[in-house]
Amino acid sequence: MHLLCQAQQAESDFRKVILIMTAIISIGNEILLGRTLNTNLQYLATELAALGLEAEYAITIKDDPREIGKALAYCWENYRIVICTGGLGPTDDDITKSSIAEFFSAPLIHDEAVWEHVQNLFSRRNQPTPQTNRNQALVPQGFEVLRNDMGTAPGLHYSDNSKSFFALPGVPLEMQWLFETHIRQRLRGSYNNKPLVVSNMHTWGISESLLAEKLEHFPWPQEIKHAWLPQTGRVDLRLYGSDEQLIENTRKALMEEIGSYVWAIDAQSPAWQLGQLLRSQGLKLAVVESCTGGLLGDMITEVPGASDYFLGGVVSYANRIKEEVLGVPAEIIESLGAVSEETALAMLSGLQKLSRADLAVSITGIAGPDGGSPEKPVGLVCFAFACKDTKYAKTMIFNGSRVSIRFKAAEYAILELIRLLESRSL
Ligand code: ATP
Ligand code: MG
Repeated sequence: MHLLCQAQQAESDFRKVILIMTAIISIGNEILLGRTLNTNLQYLATELAALGLEAEYAITIKDDPREIGKALAYCWENYRIVICTGGLGPTDDDITKSSIAEFFSAPLIHDEAVWEHVQNLFSRRNQPTPQTNRNQALVPQGFEVLRNDMGTAPGLHYSDNSKSFFALPGVPLEMQWLFETHIRQRLRGSYNNKPLVVSNMHTWGISESLLAEKLEHFPWPQEIKHAWLPQTGRVDLRLYGSDEQLIENTRKALMEEIGSYVWAIDAQSPAWQLGQLLRSQGLKLAVVESCTGGLLGDMITEVPGASDYFLGGVVSYANRIKEEVLGVPAEIIESLGAVSEETALAMLSGLQKLSRADLAVSITGIAGPDGGSPEKPVGLVCFAFACKDTKYAKTMIFNGSRVSIRFKAAEYAILELIRLLESRSL
């Protein structure tokens, strides 16, 4: 054989032998009409990835025998695991089973156990079994029935030459129950697949492209894949692969390059990470908010158990509240403005007196869309932070809509508090 052909053959053998390739076929007119969101794909893709069998191909097709036949032909030829969902019901729009039977040249045979199961389900509801449901007891010859305790349509399984085919009903609850009951365990390790390990490095204060530039020459191990996941105002770097140790080593090497931008590893959210730090350092937090109107307090208290470290706060939207509740001198607001570092610091002092918190933050800014000026544009937000004896103010300019400015301001406060607490624990 010609050398190039040999190499191509070896490559194709490698793909056949080493790589487990999985395809998902979503069947249903209602998905293509935009009436049903394809959550079955999301569920299956997530579950398969966790098993180390990530989907490499997914197709959505209508309830049409020709389309189902074409999709089956392509997927069964090219992939080792094929899962289809939808169209297994008893009505005449459900033609998946007959299309499967035709494709695999497997005649449909009455299965008494499935028929009894269907009848049982109806008698439990005190209803006669409609004759239409009789076709649900038809099973393609040579296929294994996956019993469906959540509904009448059973799942189907066929395997041939170490390839596996599964057909599942479209109803998400039934599809998930069948996957959890019959499929997950069966696929675990059966293709030498190793569970996927995922680790997220959360960064802030640097854009996605600058971060990527900093890692331009990073020696990524071949076995580790990575993805940039931009969030509002910050970026996550996700690493995934099957070798946990290699992921950890890669993460350590990445920390050398971009560690100063990383605020946490595998945190559920900034507020969750802040909570972890506050709890471990035994500190109490209080907040005072103007332009975020309580959003910061909301983010902090979204985390279960926040009462361990969060005392509460003041939403001082109007100047009168800033003055009367927090004791901000009217002259500061008059001469320097409600949005100024001086006002932020005075709000903070008032909050500290009221709350006696170890850690405190104040926010005052212009969320827009109106109220900006050349000196103080929309998006300008002043913060003040205090942790024990440390006290300082910061001004940031955030871009975007009112919604995103408020969100970024509240999250910035949390991320800065994380930075403060981390520098204390060093
Ligand atoms: P049934 O026995 O209810 O007819 P079935 O197996 O024939 O089930 P379909 O008729 O294709 O499945 O879909 C039933 C319902 O399940 C749809 O109305 C839709 O709401 C939901 N569904 C179908 N496919 C999906 C999908 N890919 N993602 C989310 N929901 C889906
Ligand atoms: Mg149906």
